[in-house]
Amino acid sequence: MGEGDSGADGDGVELTFLGTGTSNGIPVIGCRCAVCTSDDPRDRRSRTSAVVRDRATGRTLLIDTATELRLQALAAGLDRIDAVLMTHAHADHTGGFDDLRRFNEIQRAHLPVYAGPNTAATLRERYAYAFADAFPFYGGKPDLILHEVDGPFDVFGRRIEPIPVLHGQMTVFGYRIGPLAYVTDAKEIPASSLDLLRGADVLVLNALRERPHPTHLSLAEAVAVVEAIRPRMAYLVHLSHELSHADASALLPTGIEIAYDGLTVDALG
Ligand SMILES: [Zn+2]
Ligand SMILES: [Zn+2]
Ligand SMILES: [Zn+2]
Repeated sequence: MGEGDSGADGDGVELTFLGTGTSNGIPVIGCRCAVCTSDDPRDRRSRTSAVVRDRATGRTLLIDTATELRLQALAAGLDRIDAVLMTHAHADHTGGFDDLRRFNEIQRAHLPVYAGPNTAATLRERYAYAFADAFPFYGGKPDLILHEVDGPFDVFGRRIEPIPVLHGQMTVFGYRIGPLAYVTDAKEIPASSLDLLRGADVLVLNALRERPHPTHLSLAEAVAVVEAIRPRMAYLVHLSHELSHADASALLPTGIEIAYDGLTVDALG
């Protein structure tokens, strides 16, 4: 879990996929399909979230508090979070929000959380108890400083740029963190946001399944976005049980891979 040692990595970041599944999680409760009963560990997908270790600042950023945050943190050996970036307030991306309190307890400090205005409003409503009292004690509830962001902001000296994308009617934030661009739950990426993805070394993008879907990119739609951006590597997340890791991987050109829970990759600065 080492603190980032910049060394030759410069501006780079390390990304660990904590979860890579769609909102049901895979296996889906009560489903006996080939993917839900697969022996391939890469077909077991918890709800989509990721942790970013910033080599330039030595800081650890969590993207979303997925339903399985506690299990994901245990699996990844995650014992420190310096800040949380929220993409949107759908339940699969927020369900582990209360587990942030353990990091307050470990770190004896409150935790900055960054979210767009609509996401912040929903978090305040849904987790009102977490915002009701100012830091009464550590560990009993999340102790958070919620920052509403609507444009680039700095986290411990790293410039982070929200990337607005359309998730059906809802605007969701992707995030550009130096050489990494992370976009989950997108169906459409406006031209101005495509510009914010350009030059990324690593692009993370959602791809639900082969068939089109009203609020998520399909596999082919995600590939088209990657081909427009041309990162060194792209990783697809938020898969449904309609795609096995092996079958989906076989459909992809080189330079695009299906992510899986626990995979760690480097974005080079
Ligand atoms: Zn989602
Ligand atoms: Zn299934
Ligand atoms: Zn969503």
